Amino acid sequence: MIDIHCHLTFEQFDEERERVIEEAKEELKAVIVSGVDPEDSKKTLKLSEAYPKFIYTTLGLHPVSVVRMKEKEIETYLEFIKTNREKIVGIGEIGLDYHWVKDSSKIRRMKEVFIEFLELSKELNLPVVLHLRNGVEEGLRIIEGEDIKKAVFHCYSGGMKLAREIWEEKYYISLASSIRRSKNMKKVARSIPLSLLLTETDAPFLSPVEGEINVPKNVRVVYEEVSKLRGMEIKELCEKIAENSSRLFDIPNFF
Ligand SMILES: [Zn+2]
Repeated sequence: MIDIHCHLTFEQFDEERERVIEEAKEELKAVIVSGVDPEDSKKTLKLSEAYPKFIYTTLGLHPVSVVRMKEKEIETYLEFIKTNREKIVGIGEIGLDYHWVKDSSKIRRMKEVFIEFLELSKELNLPVVLHLRNGVEEGLRIIEGEDIKKAVFHCYSGGMKLAREIWEEKYYISLASSIRRSKNMKKVARSIPLSLLLTETDAPFLSPVEGEINVPKNVRVVYEEVSKLRGMEIKELCEKIAENSSRLFDIPNFF
């Protein structure tokens, strides 16, 4: 099993990070940690260095962090990411968040920076991990307009119509460990072409049990649910998801 998106650097894990990772190692093949801002990205890189061939890194700028940063800081950060190209497997998470960002000038800025990071992904030839809260359709149009080839819609919980548009463009959809609570996610799980499905926890968020701190090993819930919904063996599903993750993030050693 693979968790393609979580935040093991967050303070919720400060007391028990090592234990959480060791437990993940018992069950999972790989975990991808996404840096959300400059500070977090440094921690993320350190963590993947400490667990080679198990913890992988994507670096991005969360849309909510964008509006807190000065232009110059963002430029420096883009350079930092370029310098670390060889240590990362993707750009993200990046995107749009209309739940937290409502002010029109901030929205404009959020979109501009989103596009800057999409440009960066093209320059570095890396896939993007998309966070699109209340902005899936707009995000989809933007990445199509930018001619992005490799992308995953992380924690997708939208409807079927958009889901279908996403997979028809050959973009990936990642379903999270909160799947049991979401009718939309179950519908997508049933119909998505298997070659475009990925699995994640977004830990410490989106626990299968509401209110608990989520951990990467809980990604098992997604495998259980998808295998039940599609009437397939977990083992076969594991192989497919490993293949997909390996293809999207260009990591050869999942096998
Ligand atoms: Zn996240």
